[in-house]
Amino acid sequence: MYEITIVGAGLAGTETAFQLAKFAKAYDLSIRIKLYEMRPKVKTPAHHTDNFAELVCSNSLGSEFLTTARGVLIQEMKLFDSLIINSALKSKVPAGQALAVDRDKFAEIISEVISVNPYIELIREEFVNIPADVLEANSEYNKNKFLIIASGPLTSPNLSEEIQKLTQGKDFLNFFDAASPILTAESINMDIAFKASRYGKGETDDYINCPFYSADEYYRFQEALLSAERAELQDFEKENMRYFEGCMPVEAIAERGKDTLRFGPLKPVGLTDPRQPYAVVQLRQDNVLGSLYNIVGFQTNLKWGEQKRVFSMIPALENLDIVRYGVMHQNIFLNSPTLLSENLSLKTHPNIYFAGQITGVEGYTESAGTGIVVARSIVSRILSEIKLNTAIDLENDNGAKNEIAPLSPLTMLGALVNYVTSADPKRFQPINSNWGLINPNPDELEKKLRKDKRLKNEFLAERALALIREDAFTKTAAMIDA
Ligand SMILES: Cc1cc2nc3c(=O)[nH]c(=O)nc-3n(C[C@H](O)[C@H](O)[C@H](O)COP(=O)(O)OP(=O)(O)OC[C@H]3O[C@@H](n4cnc5c(N)ncnc54)[C@H](O)[C@@H]3O)c2cc1C
Repeated sequence: MYEITIVGAGLAGTETAFQLAKFAKAYDLSIRIKLYEMRPKVKTPAHHTDNFAELVCSNSLGSEFLTTARGVLIQEMKLFDSLIINSALKSKVPAGQALAVDRDKFAEIISEVISVNPYIELIREEFVNIPADVLEANSEYNKNKFLIIASGPLTSPNLSEEIQKLTQGKDFLNFFDAASPILTAESINMDIAFKASRYGKGETDDYINCPFYSADEYYRFQEALLSAERAELQDFEKENMRYFEGCMPVEAIAERGKDTLRFGPLKPVGLTDPRQPYAVVQLRQDNVLGSLYNIVGFQTNLKWGEQKRVFSMIPALENLDIVRYGVMHQNIFLNSPTLLSENLSLKTHPNIYFAGQITGVEGYTESAGTGIVVARSIVSRILSEIKLNTAIDLENDNGAKNEIAPLSPLTMLGALVNYVTSADPKRFQPINSNWGLINPNPDELEKKLRKDKRLKNEFLAERALALIREDAFTKTAAMIDA
């Protein structure tokens, strides 16, 4: 019997548990999965519910289009029958080319799937001690235990301390991540706002647009943002202040220049409004009912009263009714290039794995993706151990052999893991999926394609998906379908 403990039922923890359970069923492995989740007993500063896989900020998992790096990652994860992606598809709300979800429905589907899985035992407690027997898992008598830490960017302080002991305290890094507010649809003045998607992507009325028609109105808002009162940070937080560029508070973007916002999240492009707005704030549907919307790109650390005051200056939001305010929090992550092997286990303790944002990937989809990598690595180790001990090749009904290859770094998921485990440790920062991670390995064909960004991206996407299909998909995902 193999005992696998997973800490954290977030995006990564639930995906890992689900994938492990599927492999256990497909190969009839004797695996018991213990999944710890501390909420609701112990709360985090950003989660609001007791559900598993709660999305703490935006309700979007990113673009589904193959010409985007995130789109490739989503398609790759679909090939692995990802719990997170399949649940997102089942709880999708209209959002142009983005895979956006009804956050409650999404988390409820995942919570239900995990709760009824016979391989998974749920333990709703804070996990505080890394047990000595897992630390000794390499000793002869204890090869059958694995620990996966998927406790996320807001890992509880008790567990953080424990991890620091394990890594000699020197390699914990941090940055700040912020969430944007959610408001009621009925508080939006639709005499001023209009429905449209940029460049007509998706259904034409996927977003609600709040247009600043005059420069004066926009600059008044920009100045109000700058002078608004921000929530106090702890002293230690001030010292370590470093934002994640992809999720910077709107007031910090505004500090970079008076026009930075209107060339960023407020860019007035791709909308066929004959009055040609000077800047546009977009609102994205947040639940299936269409009764809630979030303000795109408005992650913030303003005090709650100030959020209400300043965001009410946005045209059409004069009666703004915020049901969930924006917040900012310090996130932790490991210096993975020094600490983790390419399968995301600790170099010093190979039976202890990390999954999710704590490894230094950033984003819901990326975090869940690492769960697939960890599950594949553990199952592959279990399968080779069984083979070694019994000299039999396990085959399932499809004839798939007991081999699970590591993902190629030419796939987006493989490239992400390759990056977090081999980047320069001195400059290591959280990373989203992006084209720069996949080495195009230029030959004549690619040189030509490189001139056209879109063609090049399509080419890389096709290659990444072909690799997954040929290798991992045929060897593993296909057998699971059996
Ligand atoms: C303020 C904020 C805003 C963000 N905005 C975005 C965004 O807009 N888009 C985006 O893609 N990503 C965003 N992120 C990042 C996002 O949270 C992660 O990408 C994603 O949730 C990480 O998944 P995970 O599974 O690693 O962690 P989580 O989803 O956070 O899951 C970790 C789980 O572990 C549990 N846990 C922690 N410690 C313990 C313990 N000791 N014992 C038991 N359980 C424990 C937690 O309760 C939690 O349920 C944001 C993060 C923060 C903090």
